[in-house]
Amino acid sequence: MPTYPYICRTCRKRFSRFLTYADYEKAKVTCAHCGSPDVQRRIGRVRFARSEDSRLDSLGDLGDLEGLEDDPRAMAKAFRRMSSELGEDAGPEFNEVINRLESGQSPEEIEQELPDLGGDGGFGDDFGDD
Ligand SMILES: [Zn+2]
Repeated sequence: MPTYPYICRTCRKRFSRFLTYADYEKAKVTCAHCGSPDVQRRIGRVRFARSEDSRLDSLGDLGDLEGLEDDPRAMAKAFRRMSSELGEDAGPEFNEVINRLESGQSPEEIEQELPDLGGDGGFGDDFGDD
């Protein structure tokens, strides 16, 4: 079962939840630290989840991203490796994310500045509302 990383907008702490893919859109996720429902899914697999989830799962090294969250450049490197293993261009948004990671921006900053990244395909910012 995959672990989904979240960040709490209330206390800014990070936590993870185990959710099945089916549960992901239905589940009410609240902060593990303060209980706030105002949590945000952190960047990671969200760019791929819509179409590439199963293929990427088979690569078997996505778990590495968990340890890379505080190292944007290492995360960018991992993204590049995944992209090349997929053998296809992941698109301008993806490349923008990699470029920002390589310039040292945190995934949270990138998510805030590029709201479209998680804003379509059902992964909206307001999934916690109901
Ligand atoms: Zn919190």
